[in-house]
Amino acid sequence: MSDLIPAHLDHRRVWGDFDYCYPVISRRSRGLSLGVNLNPDKACNFDCVYCEVDRLTPARRRDVDLDQLEQELGMLLDLSASGEIFEFPPFDSARPDQRRLNDIAFSGDGEPTTAGEFAEVVARVAALKQARGLDAVKLVLITDASRLQAPEVVSGLVTLMENHGEIWAKLDAGTEAHYREICRSQIPFQRILDNLLATARRWPIVIQTLFLSWQGQGPDDRELAAYGERLEDLQRQGGRIKALQLYTIARPTPEPEARPLRRLQMDAIAASVRAQFPELPVEVYYGPEEWA
Ligand code: SF4
Repeated sequence: MSDLIPAHLDHRRVWGDFDYCYPVISRRSRGLSLGVNLNPDKACNFDCVYCEVDRLTPARRRDVDLDQLEQELGMLLDLSASGEIFEFPPFDSARPDQRRLNDIAFSGDGEPTTAGEFAEVVARVAALKQARGLDAVKLVLITDASRLQAPEVVSGLVTLMENHGEIWAKLDAGTEAHYREICRSQIPFQRILDNLLATARRWPIVIQTLFLSWQGQGPDDRELAAYGERLEDLQRQGGRIKALQLYTIARPTPEPEARPLRRLQMDAIAASVRAQFPELPVEVYYGPEEWA
């Protein structure tokens, strides 16, 4: 049986005429997550084959207006506090246990840490959260890890982690070749690994890995073994992994050759990762079986 509800399948990053902030019901958040999109221009330094962002439709705007962003987030926090948000589709499909605000997530139509305003936005959002007494609400950065080394980004990370923060960092490959094929980025794979290590030495991080069928092929044994080696390297060198989130495609993407793995395939990968890292919490998120 699928654990997907209609709201999980509708992750449009839009709410009314808002430009930056949007609500989603997220499986990984186990509830309501308020997204903050710092990339209204839809620019990203990765070009993942499974990316859901529609880059054919022109961006509505390219700038980040901090005051407007804060106002939008404040309004969504009001709707969440009153529960009114769950009267609107698709949020009305949320189960009772999902009708809770879990986090405010820096995630959007590109890589959040490429925005020059990243650190300031984190500071403003943290202040808003504090002012409302939302201590239990997490601040989550969803990142491709490409800029975690930049001093201005580290400054934002410090604020994030002082305010019940979590860093959810992407690691989709074990080899440079697979990384280039799936993430299609010009940034060297080693830079991503170095950034993950430097960050995980300072704070425990959540690693997010998307496994998929690309052009009819899922990840092969060699690639999966290399993926395990990268995680081992990270830990051996002092990086701390808080949890692993293994997931597959859940919603349609512009690339028809990018398809979800089947539940059985995800279970087999998860079993092998759990056997190699018995101490790590491993969460698995399935896709719609009918598309696989
Ligand atoms: S990092 Fe995220 S936004 Fe960027 S291309 Fe990949 S999936 Fe899309």
